[in-house]
Amino acid sequence: MATYRCPVCDYRYDETVGAPREGFPAGTVWSAIPDDWCCPDCGVREKLDFESTSATSGPTHE
Ligand SMILES: [Zn+2]
Repeated sequence: MATYRCPVCDYRYDETVGAPREGFPAGTVWSAIPDDWCCPDCGVREKLDFESTSATSGPTHE
C-alpha cells in the first residue's frame, strides 16, 4: 500500500485508509482513483499532480 501527497497543501491519500468522504473506501488503490479527481483539501491539484511517497525506499523528508 502506498501514500500519495498533494504538492500544494500536503494532503495525503493513503491507500490503506482511502478517502471515505470522497467515495473511496479503505483499500482503494491509487490506480482506481479517477485521473480527474481533485485534491479534496485545496481543490487545485489533480491526481496526476500528486507525488508518490514511500516510507521504505528513497530519501525521506519528514
Ligand atoms: Zn491539495
